[in-house]
Amino acid sequence: MDVTPILENLNDAQRQAVTAPAEPTLVIAGAGSGKTRVLVHRAAWLIDVEGLSPQSLLAVTFTNKAAAEMRGRIETLLKLPVQNLWIGTFHGLAHRMLRRHWREAGLPQNFQIIDSDDQLRLIKRLLKNLEIDDSRWVPREIQWFINAQKDEGLRPQHLDDEGNADRRQMISLYESYEEICERGGLVDFAELLLRAHELLRDNAELLAHYRRRFHHLLVDEFQDTNAIQYAWLRLLAGDQGVPFVVGDDDQSIYRWRGARVEHIHRFQTDFPGTRVVKLEQNYRSTATILNAANAIIANNSSRLGKNLWTEGAEGEAIRIYSAYNERDEADFVIGRLRDWIDQGNARADSAILYRSNAQSRVLEEGLINARIPYRVYGGLRFFERSEIKDALAYLRLISNRDDDSSFERIVNKPTRGIGARTVELMRSYARANACPLWRAAGATASNDLNGRAANAVSAFMSLIERMARETSGLELHDQVDHVIYASGLVDFFKKDKGEKGETRVENLLELVSAAKSFQPDPAEEMSPLDEFLSHAALEAGEGQAEAWEDCVQLMTMHSAKGLEFPLVFMCGMEDGLFPHQRSIADPSGLEEERRLCYVGITRAKQTLFITHAEQRRLHGMDNFSQPSRFIGEIPDEHVEEIRPRVQVSRPMRSAESQTRSRRSTAPASELGIRLGQRVRHKKFGDGVILNCEGQGAHARVEVNFEAAGTKWLVLTYANLEAVS
Ligand code: ATP
Ligand code: MG
Repeated sequence: MDVTPILENLNDAQRQAVTAPAEPTLVIAGAGSGKTRVLVHRAAWLIDVEGLSPQSLLAVTFTNKAAAEMRGRIETLLKLPVQNLWIGTFHGLAHRMLRRHWREAGLPQNFQIIDSDDQLRLIKRLLKNLEIDDSRWVPREIQWFINAQKDEGLRPQHLDDEGNADRRQMISLYESYEEICERGGLVDFAELLLRAHELLRDNAELLAHYRRRFHHLLVDEFQDTNAIQYAWLRLLAGDQGVPFVVGDDDQSIYRWRGARVEHIHRFQTDFPGTRVVKLEQNYRSTATILNAANAIIANNSSRLGKNLWTEGAEGEAIRIYSAYNERDEADFVIGRLRDWIDQGNARADSAILYRSNAQSRVLEEGLINARIPYRVYGGLRFFERSEIKDALAYLRLISNRDDDSSFERIVNKPTRGIGARTVELMRSYARANACPLWRAAGATASNDLNGRAANAVSAFMSLIERMARETSGLELHDQVDHVIYASGLVDFFKKDKGEKGETRVENLLELVSAAKSFQPDPAEEMSPLDEFLSHAALEAGEGQAEAWEDCVQLMTMHSAKGLEFPLVFMCGMEDGLFPHQRSIADPSGLEEERRLCYVGITRAKQTLFITHAEQRRLHGMDNFSQPSRFIGEIPDEHVEEIRPRVQVSRPMRSAESQTRSRRSTAPASELGIRLGQRVRHKKFGDGVILNCEGQGAHARVEVNFEAAGTKWLVLTYANLEAVS
């Protein structure tokens, strides 16, 4: 038999999965075992060998970046571009369906997506309108409640207050929130999924159409699907569709956002006769890295259990650096990065991972000082920056006057004499007449407002109308360009002296470039502007717009899922930070943190550094912490500890921390000397060992002498005497 190139470079188990008959299939396998690769080859196989039209495939990935990569890899395998192949995230695909069938979905044609910031602002405004005390009813908690209900597929009318007054209030807020969204044509992230599910559930014809069309449903990172995503998938598959899902229970890290690893079991019941394929060979990491990851995850009790092995080389030891504080940590990371870049490696092949977004700031500072280009991925901040959101709000209002959250954002930005009281008047008019703010503005300007305020409001409204007229028919980037100037935003930020204003103007200009490089999808039935706005909203959570430069990748461990890098730094490995404080006491929370750690470690292909700091300033507070318990779970033979070179006296670690962290691999132990030990020198007197370096005759120690200060001494000549 001819082996098509599609089956080259696959092992037997992978090949079995790729060529499986059209039956529900579950590939369950550990990190780096080729799950994503199998999915890509499966798609290519179905198109090339089984002769299916790309139209009949639907592929779901976890990020937009992964979707783009998957498309590229399929096209490379097929050696031709594949149009009509739906690949995207659950959110992206749901959005596409809603755009096509807005009418059936009960949405206005130009509905707008709001991100979680917009959502929060909307909720705050809602509380204000209803005169509800936001200290008792915390906006974030309401937001959390609403999204959690939607993730479970529940509308307010499905909810029972269970005789509980607080719950009743929450449900009623959810209801009011829905009304506002309905009125403004606003759709939040959770709503995208819920609506898309309802769309299919309630439209038999549409459902039949999509079931006929999408015969094969391919899903990556299946372990992190939430209830509504799973329900959508199941609905779409029906009895005839062929779901092909790949996942790893050990990498389930989004429970806190509604993901349910239980779907792995559920799948096998819901699709009887499911073929289960296990992949056990890891192709990504060195044996050292893989074994360390295996050892850590073995401490979790709720696992399906897998045996992951590699034929790869043992590789270098995992280097653990114990920093004095977060700046020392950043210096270390940057030093190592420098070496690595100087050796001719691509910056993009390195990643700095951390548990919490706030950790990036110090690292970023260091990178900027060292002039190493970097990109914060996943916290992305480009479309989230406030000046960008201002410009987008203008664009949105131009596209849809009923978009209240955009209206509020820019009605007085740049300042144009529309004060809080005027806005309040418009709000109460809108409330009383159940109409959008735009209409309320028109009505109040002609009736209720005094001359100055009325003029200001009318001027604002004509500005928007004028901008709409002047941009209609322009190319997308010319529209953006026009709007950033005509709105007065550029001038406004220019007045903002100093670096901040300058950066903001640069960012606005960058938005024009983003629009320029934006490629509207001809298959989408909306204007390029609406598509761009949707793209901005969907992309906001996900990473810098475009990588135009080879740069180091910074991201949280959560965003690193599915990715791989030759060089990885895992920073801030401290108890309290990672595992996160709030998970430490909760066994299932701790297991999720451990899975996250497993995800982090298994991103590394060749070189892994783990760093922790004894003292860390984060969110403006100083913390003293112990090294993460996860470090202690790595078997000794896989690690090598690097000690900092500290010039001044530094706090010695507590006894507990010394036993938990490893003894140095340096020579001190040969001579019965360990870090932190008191020693006596004939000339310098008593001191404490801070650091050791080198082996045998070259072994040196750094001692902090009480009287003579810190000195490096060659061990064999120093004749140190241990003092108890
Ligand atoms: P994760 O759980 O992290 O998402 P994964 O199981 O999806 O990992 P992939 O990303 O598909 O794994 O593969 C990991 C690496 O191993 C990739 O670089 C991939 O190209 C390589 N790889 C997978 N299978 C093979 C194979 N049979 N031969 C050579 N390389 C392979
Ligand atoms: Mg993968």
